[in-house]
Amino acid sequence: MNFYPVPVARLVEEFSKLPGIGSKTAQRLAFFVLNMPEDGVKNLAHAIVEAKLKIKYCTICGNLTDVDPCFICRNTSRDESLICVVEEPRDVIAMEKTREFKGVYHVLHGAISPMEGIGPEDIRIKELIQRIGKGNVKEVIVATNPNVEGEATAMYLSKLIKPFGVKVTRIAHGIPVGGDLEYADEVTLTKALEGRREI
Ligand SMILES: [Zn+2]
Repeated sequence: MNFYPVPVARLVEEFSKLPGIGSKTAQRLAFFVLNMPEDGVKNLAHAIVEAKLKIKYCTICGNLTDVDPCFICRNTSRDESLICVVEEPRDVIAMEKTREFKGVYHVLHGAISPMEGIGPEDIRIKELIQRIGKGNVKEVIVATNPNVEGEATAMYLSKLIKPFGVKVTRIAHGIPVGGDLEYADEVTLTKALEGRREI
């Protein structure tokens, strides 16, 4: 039974669809919004809509961007012969924070997971092979997460890329097994990058 007026109930319902937001938090957020000044509420709503409408995926690397190609792909001082493969756009942020990586990225948008029915054709592997096929890539660093899916994806990519005569490396296991790249601190991630090994 719903005790709230319909617009409030709807707001609570929308908040509760967000990750990590239970019904109590959703109610708290809804009441917080109701108590905000009208301008603040409009800014919040506008920021959500604007981010959704303006942010796209870079047609080269698959990273989130408001310009296409993204600012990393269009930066001529980055080394295009070195591609770091990651699972998600948030992993690009984690790598960029290290300020150590001067190459470019390729975001897969997932990892191979037979358990979840995610095959190679469901993530951006075809696009990666197309980039490598253009001929100026020297090394691909596979920086997928150190879990079962990430390792399976790394092995799959290694087999697929090696015939192109391109070196395939895997970041070192400074990152805890089962941990996500995005939660690794900058020092750990820098060490993992430096200690990468050929696979
Ligand atoms: Zn890009």
